[in-house]
Amino acid sequence: MNDLKTGMIFDIERCSMYDGPGIRTTVFLKGCPLSCKWCHNPESQRPLPELAFYSEKCVRCGKCAKICPDVHKLSARTHKVHYQNCKSCGRCAKVCPVHALKLIGKTYQIKEVMDILKKDIPYFRTAGGGLTVSGGEPFSQYIFLKELLQYAKAEDIHTCIETSGFTTREKIDGVLPYTDLFLFDYKVTSPELHRQFTGVDNHIILENFRYLYSCGQAIILRCPIIPGYNDTEDHFRGICDMEKQYPDLAGIEIMPYHSLGKEKAAAVNKPYEVTAPTADDTVKNMWKKQLRTLGASDALLESF
Ligand code: SF4
Ligand code: SF4
Repeated sequence: MNDLKTGMIFDIERCSMYDGPGIRTTVFLKGCPLSCKWCHNPESQRPLPELAFYSEKCVRCGKCAKICPDVHKLSARTHKVHYQNCKSCGRCAKVCPVHALKLIGKTYQIKEVMDILKKDIPYFRTAGGGLTVSGGEPFSQYIFLKELLQYAKAEDIHTCIETSGFTTREKIDGVLPYTDLFLFDYKVTSPELHRQFTGVDNHIILENFRYLYSCGQAIILRCPIIPGYNDTEDHFRGICDMEKQYPDLAGIEIMPYHSLGKEKAAAVNKPYEVTAPTADDTVKNMWKKQLRTLGASDALLESF
């Protein structure tokens, strides 16, 4: 393989059980055109590398400040990071003895990713897994995405894209021959609230969904439910309607909110307004009851 196309990746998770069927290797691409208020990967939104600072780990040794005094300002009790002065070179992260600093985002060539994937092929074969490309929004790095899927299919690896659906018809057509399954987000039913909570209209997203469905593509609809945002009767009704209207979906999954994104947003200095705690069993049972009343199937209710 002599392909030199590169992608900006912020994580590669091997042996993942949550990003599609079987045991999977998930490649997380950086960059997303949405800005969901509950984003569980806020470090994925910006397209370029960025510095993350995990304040709870810092022992205030001062090594980073020696390298970059304009960014790292330490006193006896505090360590303030002036992110606006950071050039994202990653040098300070290399000297931190306790991993309180990390450069999020690294350039990979297709071959480097394929080398990792090839090692995992035995797991894929035994557990029915494969490659999942997630993000961020994978379509924001379309050329790399398409190429990676092509190479994976050439190795007979099952492929899956986890997407917000906010992309163009041309890009969907481009990846269709190399994609076995789409994990497609269904975030908010109301177009106004969708725009308010995610930064974009859901019109294009729904058009793309309908197009994919009409192509006979395997799709699992994924519905993140966030207390105080989209746990409304209107949206639950919308989810049940989707289930009825699209009976050939490979599945519909409810994804209850968890609050990990809050900490990650603080590390990369992004605002995060959701204050709800991770959804517990009481909350989930309440949602199940509402969904059942609105006609959700047993399979949908058992998905969370
Ligand atoms: S990533 Fe580079 S520019 Fe940013 S604080 Fe660290 S050393 Fe300085
Ligand atoms: S090098 Fe790490 S532990 Fe030391 S002050 Fe900087 S962030 Fe804190």
